[in-house]
Amino acid sequence: MSSSLVTSPWFRFTFPLMLLAAIWYGMNNVIVLTRANSGLAGGLPYALFLSSIAIAFIFKQSRMAMVACTMLISYWVIQYRLQSPLYTGSTLLELSILSFVLPVACLLSYAFKNGDLLSRAFFVYLILLACFGLWAYVTVDYYVSGGYGSLKDTFLFSVPEISKLPFILVLYLLAMVGITGIFVLTKNRIMDVFIYTAILMSSTTFIFFQLQFVSSTMFSLSGALMMLYLISASHEMAFNDQLTQLPGRHALEIDLRSPGRKFAIAMVDIDHFKSFNDSYGHDTGDDVLKLVASRIRLVKGKAKIYRYGGEEFTILFKGKTAEQAKEYLEQIRQDIEQYDLVIRDSDSRPKDDKYGATKRSDNRSQSVNITISVGVCDSSLEKRAKEAIKRADEALYQAKKAGRNRIKIASYS
Ligand code: GH3
Ligand code: MG
Ligand code: MG
Repeated sequence: MSSSLVTSPWFRFTFPLMLLAAIWYGMNNVIVLTRANSGLAGGLPYALFLSSIAIAFIFKQSRMAMVACTMLISYWVIQYRLQSPLYTGSTLLELSILSFVLPVACLLSYAFKNGDLLSRAFFVYLILLACFGLWAYVTVDYYVSGGYGSLKDTFLFSVPEISKLPFILVLYLLAMVGITGIFVLTKNRIMDVFIYTAILMSSTTFIFFQLQFVSSTMFSLSGALMMLYLISASHEMAFNDQLTQLPGRHALEIDLRSPGRKFAIAMVDIDHFKSFNDSYGHDTGDDVLKLVASRIRLVKGKAKIYRYGGEEFTILFKGKTAEQAKEYLEQIRQDIEQYDLVIRDSDSRPKDDKYGATKRSDNRSQSVNITISVGVCDSSLEKRAKEAIKRADEALYQAKKAGRNRIKIASYS
């Protein structure tokens, strides 16, 4: 699985932008194509969003379904309410309300936990959408009965050279795209990319609303990407370990089929982890596993990290020797050894000698340190990756026997 490029934050950030630019460049062709198949093109977003909701239902990704629902309803509003010229009746106001509400509704899905589509959370979300709809209705109704007077001349003024949409909303949409883009770059979860894409495509629609077929094109693009992200999320669920979010054993086994001609493999095991669990409880143990995973992730040398199982991790260094890998691993070993884990909770006094002896600061929190042992083997010793893992495991055993908190390279003897 060479998924590291396509799942990298920069790729996820720029991919929708590149697609957008490509479509923009060929927009004339898109218009010709859409005109020739207008029924199909107009219906495509519905089909894509409904399929996304169905996939989200199967994989229990209710948050993604929420965003897909928002996009589906927005597209419907565009098709049924906003097809008349912008400066007639309340069309501009309705477009403005929609472009304000859509990003808020998308971001709102962050407030919920992922789960079943038939859950209470999902219905609460739908009720919130209905509230937005009601608010929009009341506002438009008030405007139609003459309530706002010269709304267009005040805060809803627009700069037609840029967009027919009120200028303040153009700025707002750009800010929303920017904020969600930052989420993608910093957090890089599929949910972030999902929302970022929805807001990017809908904002493009709203800002360039006067362009022919912009809504069906942009919403179709968004729907197609949503399906892609949902498939990618289900793939992650199958291949990644839930606790640490690292690729799991299944991913490792697939990667071991093609490790390359030259590689080094390291097996990493946390020292005395059973006593750590006994002393501080399984939940704290889980937190420590997550922390160790996040520190191992920092390993240099373009390595790929897996959770092998329990408190064991595997690191695959392609194109490296065991000696080269050892240098990178040594940095990680020292980093973890020096990391002060602060454990809060005065009740869980250490019951075990190994951790009872560590430093304490006060009654409520204490600082402990953990260490790892590592065994490494490379392709000069064992060309078959599966066998190399066994040799790395033997070297790990040697490291444990020699006193732990150290790295051993497998040797011929
Ligand atoms: P050694 O230094 O020899 O490796 O000692 P150890 O105690 O780490 O070794 P052992 O293999 O006997 O124990 C591993 C422990 O790791 C057992 C279990 O309590 C803990 N463990 C395994 N998986 C998890 C997990 O997912 N969460 C938590 N909290 N603990 C786990
Ligand atoms: Mg172990
Ligand atoms: Mg251990």
